[in-house]
Amino acid sequence: MNAPVLELRGVTKRYPGSPPVEALREVSLRLDAGELVAIVGPSGSGKSTLLHIAGTLDTPSDGRVLVDGQPIDELDDRQLAALRARRVGFVFQQFHLLPGLTAIENVALGLLYAGVPAAERRQRAAMVLDRVGLAPRAGHLPSQLSGGEKQRVAIARALVGKPAYVLADEPTGNLDSATGAAILALLRDLNRDGATIAVITHDAAVAATLPRRLELLDGRVVADSRAAA
Ligand code: ADP
Repeated sequence: MNAPVLELRGVTKRYPGSPPVEALREVSLRLDAGELVAIVGPSGSGKSTLLHIAGTLDTPSDGRVLVDGQPIDELDDRQLAALRARRVGFVFQQFHLLPGLTAIENVALGLLYAGVPAAERRQRAAMVLDRVGLAPRAGHLPSQLSGGEKQRVAIARALVGKPAYVLADEPTGNLDSATGAAILALLRDLNRDGATIAVITHDAAVAATLPRRLELLDGRVVADSRAAA
């Protein structure tokens, strides 16, 4: 059997302070290739902390994180940066597109650290932009795009490097409900095509449409619909 793309084993994250905050408490979970999961919970439950740790942007105080079966605490900084660039895609609520670059250039940036030659970066960016329905906007700057279009560009940028998994942080949080629903439909389509995606959301309606739901409360996983299934 293949290793999960992402596994957390007994992950605790403590932030210093008086008293210190335990943002995550002994969280264990696995994400297998091909899954689409909603990570839900109220504000302060640890979702952002989990996103940072799952994205290898931060390290646990206790416990282990494995990507493709590889414990990331065994990697040095350079190896970890390379693993993150090649294996993890990020989508943020605020899109985080570079304002001076066109849509296709923003998507091609997703391949910059993967050692792909410039011409191929552009070609692959064009294909993924087409997949998210934005081929006609390839030459537009972010300021010339609607919120939903910007998020499609950001999703294309996250996917262009064919990451092991994509972490989406409140991807519909800045969009009206119809546009948000279209973005979720796109994520479901991309998952059907094989992308592995975790969507962090505080929106119960968003979570209800996804095949697996993992609920956080006070830093603990209190429900996992897949584990129950
Ligand atoms: P959520 O994303 O679900 O709102 P967070 O992961 O942001 O939850 O926060 C979980 C808990 O950890 C909260 O109590 C928050 O105040 C605390 N926390 C988050 N980041 C830090 C930090 N850098 N320093 C101290 N406490 C933090």
